[in-house]
Amino acid sequence: MSVSLPIAGQGASAGHAGAAVDFKHRAADAATNPRIAAIFDRSARMKDDARRLILPELPEPLATRELAATIKRHTLQNLDRYLDQFVTRVREHGGHVHFAADGAQANQIITEIAQAASARLIVKSKSMVSEEIELNHALEAAGFNVLETDLGEYILQLANEKPSHIVTPMAHKPKEEVGELFARKLGIEYSDDPTTLTKAARKVLRDRFFEADMGIIGANFAVADTGTVVIVTNEGNGRFCSSRPRRLVCLMGIEKLIPRMKYLPVFLKLLGKSATGQRITSYTSLISGPRRPGDFDGPEEFHLVLLDNGRTKVLASEYREALRCIRCGACLNACPIYRKIGGHAYDATYPGPIGSVISPLFTSLAQYADLPSACSLCGACLDACPVRIDLPTQLIHLRQDVIKAGHAPLSWKLGFKGWKLGMSSSFLYRMGARMGRVFMKLGARDGWKRKLPATGAIWTRYRDIPTMPKPFHSRWDELQKEIEQENAEG
Ligand code: SF4
Repeated sequence: MSVSLPIAGQGASAGHAGAAVDFKHRAADAATNPRIAAIFDRSARMKDDARRLILPELPEPLATRELAATIKRHTLQNLDRYLDQFVTRVREHGGHVHFAADGAQANQIITEIAQAASARLIVKSKSMVSEEIELNHALEAAGFNVLETDLGEYILQLANEKPSHIVTPMAHKPKEEVGELFARKLGIEYSDDPTTLTKAARKVLRDRFFEADMGIIGANFAVADTGTVVIVTNEGNGRFCSSRPRRLVCLMGIEKLIPRMKYLPVFLKLLGKSATGQRITSYTSLISGPRRPGDFDGPEEFHLVLLDNGRTKVLASEYREALRCIRCGACLNACPIYRKIGGHAYDATYPGPIGSVISPLFTSLAQYADLPSACSLCGACLDACPVRIDLPTQLIHLRQDVIKAGHAPLSWKLGFKGWKLGMSSSFLYRMGARMGRVFMKLGARDGWKRKLPATGAIWTRYRDIPTMPKPFHSRWDELQKEIEQENAEG
C-alpha cells in the first residue's frame, strides 16, 4: 500500500476557519489583569528556570538539539516515504489505519469507530490535536460520554474551560479554584491541598478506566521503522487509556513521525527537560497495534487516525520547519508576551510563539492576522526550542503575508508607506524628525508624553512614551560647527 499525501491546495484542508479573533483587545484585557500576569509569569518562569537548569546535564545540549532538528528536518523532507513505512508496519501489527484530511473527517471517523463499538464511556488521555479538531464536542454531540483522564484536562472538563498552555493545560487555575470546583462537582469537602485534590480525582478516574469501552490517545512521537506510537505522561493515565479498554484510537498529526526507534531517546531526553525541567517524563508507553496472543493486556482493536488538517499545506510552504515542533511548550514559558497575557488571550488551540505561527497556518491568516505581531522578536523562543525552530523569522515572514493578503489595518499601510518615503529621502527624513520632535514636545511633561492621538493611543493607554531626543543629524551639524569655530579661533 502506498501512502499519497494530498498536495497542498489540492485537497488538503486548511482546517476549520472561524471569525477573526480580536487579539488586540483580548491581549489588552489580559495584560491589564494583574491576576493573569502574576499566575502566568510565575508558572512560566518556574518551568523556564527548571529547563535552563537541567539542560546542561546533557553531555552536549546544543549538539543534541541540532541532532533532533536534523532528524526532524530529514523526516519532513521524506515524509511520504516514512508515512508509507509507518502505515505498512501498523497494518502488519494488525492495526486499522484511517486518513483524515481535516478535523471534520477525523471526528467522523472516530465517531463511527465508537458507534461500531457501541461505546458508552470513552476515556481520553491528553491530546492537543484532539483539542485542535474539537473531538470531545463531536463525540458528545453524537451521544457519547467522554472523560478526560489527565488531571489538568479533567479539571478543565469539569470547569468547562479550555487549556491555556499546551503542556500544563490548567496553568491559569489556582489550587483554591480547583478546591471550590471539586467541592461543587464531586461533592467533597473543600480543600486547597494539591495532594488531597489529586487523590479525590484519582478515586473518581480509576474506576472509570475499568468501565470504559474505548480509549483515545494522541501521540508524542510515531516511529516509522517499527510502526510504534509513543506517548509520554506524568500520571500514567495514558497507559490506562491505551491498555484497559477493548478498543483504542490513536489520533495523531502526520508530522509526529521519526524514522527509527534508535532516534527516540534523543527526543525523550529533550522533551521532558524542555517541557517541565524533568530529566525524563514519568511514563513512556510504546504501542504497536492491538494485543497479541500471550500479551498480558492491551486493546483488541487498534485504530490509527492520521490527521492532515493543513499540515501538507505547511509542508509545501516556507513554514515547513514549524512542523518540527514536539509540543514541549518551552517557547511559551520563555516568551515575555505569553507570560504577560497568558494562553486564553490568543483564543487558539496553540498559544504562545509556536501558536502564533501554526494557528494562522492550520486555520486561516484572516482569523489570526494579529498573532504574528504578538512578538517582540527578542529571540527567547528560538533560544529555548529543543528542535531549533526559528520562530522569530517565521513570524516576520507571516507579518509580510498578513500585509500582502490585505489583512493589515489601513493605518499600518499608510504608516509604513510614509515611513518608506521618509527613509528614502534625507530631506524628508530630516523634516519628519523635526516635525516629530515638535509634536512630541506638545503637552509633554518631564520629557514624557502621556497621550497620543489616533493609533498611537493604544500605546499611551498603558504606558507613557518619551519625547524625541534631538536627531543625530542636528547634533552632528552642531558638533561640526563647534569644531570649525574652535579651528577658526586658533
Ligand atoms: S516550537 Fe519548539 S519550543 Fe515551542 S513547543 Fe514546539 S518544540 Fe517546544
